[in-house]
Amino acid sequence: MDAVLDLAGLDALIGALIASGRKVIGPVLRDEAITLAELESAADLPSGWGVETGPGHYRVHRRADSAVFGHSAGPQSWKRFLHPPHRVLLTSGPAGFRPVREEPVEYAFFGVRPCDLAAIGKLRQIVGGPMPFVVAAQCTEPGAVCFCASMGCGPSADAGYDLALTERIDREGHRFLAVAGTAAGADVLTRLPRRPAHEHDVALADADVAEAARRMGRTMPETDLRDLLAGSREHPRWEEVAGRCLTCGNCTMVCPTCFCVSIEDTTELDGGATRAQRWASCFEIDFSQLHGGAVRTSGAARYRQWMSHKLGTWHDQFGTSGCVGCGRCIAWCPAGIDITEEAAALAEGASR
Ligand code: SF4
Ligand code: SF4
Repeated sequence: MDAVLDLAGLDALIGALIASGRKVIGPVLRDEAITLAELESAADLPSGWGVETGPGHYRVHRRADSAVFGHSAGPQSWKRFLHPPHRVLLTSGPAGFRPVREEPVEYAFFGVRPCDLAAIGKLRQIVGGPMPFVVAAQCTEPGAVCFCASMGCGPSADAGYDLALTERIDREGHRFLAVAGTAAGADVLTRLPRRPAHEHDVALADADVAEAARRMGRTMPETDLRDLLAGSREHPRWEEVAGRCLTCGNCTMVCPTCFCVSIEDTTELDGGATRAQRWASCFEIDFSQLHGGAVRTSGAARYRQWMSHKLGTWHDQFGTSGCVGCGRCIAWCPAGIDITEEAAALAEGASR
């Protein structure tokens, strides 16, 4: 069932999800970035805020309209809710070790862009957990570092959502085409103030999303990336990029699919202890620690590991690429290293 919601309908959707007992998480403006936080109403959404991105560059700015989804991917992804940055696994006390049981949270993710929809699918393949209720926001506003179209992960939301919204502001008003992807999505939609969608509404939404694909800031080279990476182990580009890479790990922290963790044990002076899991990065020197030392001691080896896994061996492990083209690793790299540029440099060397 397709329908059209206005802003009151969008607010009613958030209210209906909260009333169903879900914790609704969506985009908000915080600390000069579009971040993800709990929503209480549509008034929490970043109305009229857009973003400007580039390699090593991210700035929010005022838009000329009041769009609530008029921004590309921010520094946070939904990963932090499905796979938290820090999680205590065990504690010890007088009675010995006990596993820490977390209270399950029923989430509704609100305003999930198609690249992140794909990332949620890839991440859940690895970390599991219950599927949240997902309200996708089809992309009509790609950023300069986005390349989801060339990864087959956007800008349209094709699957994996309960409801998909497409925002439009024109002379007919500020509205959202809402398409149900599941029975649960259709059920919520029937309880909202709405009007039926006409062919005209669907055609406009399709045109806006097609235009977003044309305006995508970047593209991956059109080649078999798995084969490219497998054949590039000794490529001189790894040393070149290592000259710029700070091995800070920002790219892995912001990536919506990077899932590696480290396990840390902490002992207290009173004899208690905890075992916790925290996000880890393949750029950390001790990430490849084996008996006697680290295997990947150079920055070149660590950058090669990250990119070769993300674009190459991820296919062997999980049958898909580890990259959805969200562009976060480009925007949040302090050295402005661009994974599409690095892939293009490898591809150029391979085609000579
Ligand atoms: S590529 Fe950029 S973000 Fe990633 S580790 Fe190197 S400097 Fe940090
Ligand atoms: S590798 Fe970069 S562009 Fe690809 S999913 Fe991760 S952060 Fe996004």
